[in-house]
Amino acid sequence: MHNPGTATPDRFPARDRFPDGAQYIAGRPATGTSGRTYAVVDPATGDEVYTYEPAGTRDVDAAVAAAREAFPGWAAATPGERSDALNRFAAVLADRAEEFARAESLQCGKPLKLTREFDVPGTIDNTAFFAGAARQLQGQSAGEYSGDHTSYVRREPIGVVGSIAPWNYPLQMAAWKILPAIAAGNTIVLKPSELTPLTSLLFAQAATDAGIPDGVVNIVTGTGEEAGQHLVAHPDVAMTSFTGSTAVGRRVAEIATATVKRIHLELGGKAPFVVFDDADLEAAVHGAVAGALINTGQDCTAATRAYVQRPLYEEFVERTAALMESVRLGDPFAPGTDLGPLISHVQRDRVAGFVDRARAYARVVTGGQAPGGELEKGAYYRPTLIADAPQGSEAVQSEIFGPVLVALPFDGDDEGLRLANDTPYGLAASAWTRDVYRANRATREIRAGCVWINDHIPIISEMPHGGYQASGFGKDMSSYSFEEYTQIKHVMFDNTAVARKDWHRTVFGDRQL
Ligand code: NAD
Repeated sequence: MHNPGTATPDRFPARDRFPDGAQYIAGRPATGTSGRTYAVVDPATGDEVYTYEPAGTRDVDAAVAAAREAFPGWAAATPGERSDALNRFAAVLADRAEEFARAESLQCGKPLKLTREFDVPGTIDNTAFFAGAARQLQGQSAGEYSGDHTSYVRREPIGVVGSIAPWNYPLQMAAWKILPAIAAGNTIVLKPSELTPLTSLLFAQAATDAGIPDGVVNIVTGTGEEAGQHLVAHPDVAMTSFTGSTAVGRRVAEIATATVKRIHLELGGKAPFVVFDDADLEAAVHGAVAGALINTGQDCTAATRAYVQRPLYEEFVERTAALMESVRLGDPFAPGTDLGPLISHVQRDRVAGFVDRARAYARVVTGGQAPGGELEKGAYYRPTLIADAPQGSEAVQSEIFGPVLVALPFDGDDEGLRLANDTPYGLAASAWTRDVYRANRATREIRAGCVWINDHIPIISEMPHGGYQASGFGKDMSSYSFEEYTQIKHVMFDNTAVARKDWHRTVFGDRQL
């Protein structure tokens, strides 16, 4: 176990790596000018591992100016040139994979096996995907629709994109925002969460080292209220792409709407996990624990509401609790660790508050406390199963964003699907059954941007990710994300070469002018 307070040499050396500040503007690191200091804290130990000056409005202005200057050249690059640059980018990321994994584990408290096997390879694959997709950007519909004209559609970049990302998957969220935007010829200013800037800074540096021109990718690290809001309101930013909570998303949308920007919102979730009575219970129990605990439950698609058909319910609760108890909490850098801490003590206390309040109306079957002992200084919380909470209760309706699963019984299929749809969210869901008709019905009727059958969590670069309802709109990943980051232009050519066109009669009447 890591000894709190003494940084071991194999943790990521953040201070040495970013001596010039936590901003990255026009291809160079820079110091923020907000006049304050902020610390990145290792949530496993509570130690400050990096201090920096957050971005003020002047830094955001400088980053937007750099992105604006870079835009014409990058937009004019051929798809092949952008693709080559993204392929080189993927290669640089692959060379630095271990550094990325350690930085992400340090700032988030994610076990190294998660960052090595999920966050980092996923990001490299996404980069390689968009290198290919950059050459597949297509307009549609060339043809003579009026008879006298040839029409076609051009697909064009939008301009400077302003993006805001959360702390739960800092590297992947930076990649999901930056890659489709730049593959389509936009330039970007990304504001990572002030808690977790390290891998966004490494990502921007890698882009420069891969030969992506200065100003195409810029990072401003600062608070939401100062740097974030200024970026959203900025008149030279053409589009706001936001991933975060629904509450902040609403505020961001209001500001962006006032300045007539295109908006893309990836917001919170409260994913249902519906287990029908013919399901493979072994698979459902393992899927529920893994799907609820991945990233210590700080995942917008995490399994949070397990609806289990009555005949399987008690056994599901018992086996899920036992499996949760076997998960090993520990130092993210220790090889035997399954689960790390939450992102911060504030988040841990928020999660504990939800569970403590639930004791009044539900059964806390396992967990429901911090582990103490040698993990006491970290923001750890035991995997928690809450059973029998009423559908309308806070634990069922609100995004807890921690290692907490709520289980509820249901009777008929109609009821299971109705309850699954009964929250304001709609990001992801899963259904567990061996009956193809039940599975097919669940995929049709559950209102969410993703429905898994007999699994929960996997994502792939080729497929879209995004929400319904209060989980937002627009898609990340896949070629569908180009719909967010491009605009289409109708071009129309006259084919007749006639000076006095027939339709002019609507203006001139029947006179020959
Ligand atoms: P958050 O909404 O608190 O913050 C997200 C980002 O917004 C941060 O960078 C923050 O600094 C910034 N911000 C805060 N106030 C702002 C303001 N007034 N103007 C502009 N920017 C502002 O979210 P979080 O706590 O960092 O992340 C957790 C949330 O993100 C959860 O709700 C989770 O479901 C959601 N999330 C969604 C997806 C998805 O794909 N739908 C993915 C990951 C996380």
